[in-house]
Amino acid sequence: MTFEDLGLLPELLKAVADAGYSEPTPIQAQAIPVVLAGKDVMGGAQTGTGKTAGFVLPLLQRLARHASTSPSPARHPVRALILTPTRELAMQVHESVQTYGKYVPLRDLVVYGGVDIRPQTEALRRGVEIVVATPGRLLDHVQQKSVNFNSVEVLVLDEADRMLDMGFIPDIKRILAMLPKERQSLLFSATFSEEIKKLADTMLKAPVLIEVARRNAVTEPVTHRMHPVDQDTKRQLLAHILKTSSLKQVLVFVGTKFGASRLAHYLEKQGIEATAIHGDKSQQQRTEALEDFKSGKARVLVATDVAARGLDIDDLPHVINFELPHVPEDYVHRIGRTGRAGKEGDATSLVCAEERGKLAEIEKLIKRPIEQVVVAGFEPGAEFSGPVEKGRRGRGGRPEKAEGSREKPATGREKPSSPRREPRSRDEGRDHREPRRVEPAKPKLPKLDFDPSKPYESRASAPAAAETKRPSHRPKRPVPALLGGLPKPEPEK
Ligand code: AMP
Repeated sequence: MTFEDLGLLPELLKAVADAGYSEPTPIQAQAIPVVLAGKDVMGGAQTGTGKTAGFVLPLLQRLARHASTSPSPARHPVRALILTPTRELAMQVHESVQTYGKYVPLRDLVVYGGVDIRPQTEALRRGVEIVVATPGRLLDHVQQKSVNFNSVEVLVLDEADRMLDMGFIPDIKRILAMLPKERQSLLFSATFSEEIKKLADTMLKAPVLIEVARRNAVTEPVTHRMHPVDQDTKRQLLAHILKTSSLKQVLVFVGTKFGASRLAHYLEKQGIEATAIHGDKSQQQRTEALEDFKSGKARVLVATDVAARGLDIDDLPHVINFELPHVPEDYVHRIGRTGRAGKEGDATSLVCAEERGKLAEIEKLIKRPIEQVVVAGFEPGAEFSGPVEKGRRGRGGRPEKAEGSREKPATGREKPSSPRREPRSRDEGRDHREPRRVEPAKPKLPKLDFDPSKPYESRASAPAAAETKRPSHRPKRPVPALLGGLPKPEPEK
């Protein structure tokens, strides 16, 4: 299948060719004809599948008939509204609108909070056909009457599940109530919860369901690995991995804004070029951090889930979860940035004893076990073999402490001299996960004996002496649902 087969306008085909795309991705092949036919779509696709072009290209084609070179604002009413949960995603979608629409004279604008509202207001008053916006700032414009939705023909809700996580659904409903009833609506989401389905029911008419990945599935070419480690030595292990490998661009996820800055600072002190991106940084700082990372000036980008949402970074095969996410679905989102467009990527998680419950939830969600590899010199203490502490999971966990040991109060569960021990009883063993493989012990801070830049391969054929295989002890009982509920949203106005 080629883009020509999809019946796209020559102006769009030229832009696609300029972007270097030779053939449509599966979501594009499915979505483009449906959107061109004016139908509503419920799209199950995550970042990295090419979904943006899947809706932007046909949207541009449907609006192309309105393209006008007239300077009159009346000739440029808002005809398409694309809502995204974060500024970064808004910027990226806007970039795509510009890339694919460069030969179609439609006006476009991106609208998000954290920056001066006046230039946005002026641009809206001059007239613009395509608006990409975060909900909070768009409602500010509604309030100050700088935007009118009477001519909206197409609405796109991108990353609806993240909108829900961030508490934007009431804002979305307010915006929906202001739009013409006769319109085309497209909803994209990486995961489909009951709430998302309810939202889809209220906003879509007889939608065509397009799904390119299994629900709640991670992209297939990604290999998953976790290193059990003590909370105290996590950041040393991270530095060790970064120093002893040739990983080029590494996106490191942490749970909190504060943790992101501190970890980036720590890595810098270790001589590893790192930068952080999170909601407390100004838009300018976030853009600069992203630029540094994309240009290779910073090898490591430390990010929170919210800030990293929708980051479009080409050729990013390495994701390291310094902390597991608060909700398992975020693991899928994090990994959505690796293994793009069929390229192989890898996802490494540093997991301390308190996070084992979260790990079990993630494995349940992605329907596959994650291989455990102990890195010699960083073997976890006995608490990793103990029972999973039920109260330690869910909202927040203890994200700040994972940064390092200095602030950590004595818990009485500090690492014992013997790093690993067998469970004392069957009962104890039943409720924990044992590391399945141990990296060969080498002096002090040994080099990893695998190449983390390559997809992980099972070591079944490795010398027996180098490995300690143990039976997997999975929790027999289902892990209770998130104890703390959804994470506290970081509003992106
Ligand atoms: P998205 O899932 O929309 O965030 O797109 C992920 C990445 O895939 C972006 O960097 C796009 O530039 C790229 N992309 C989109 N469509 C194609 C295509 N047909 N062929 C190759 N790359 C593409």
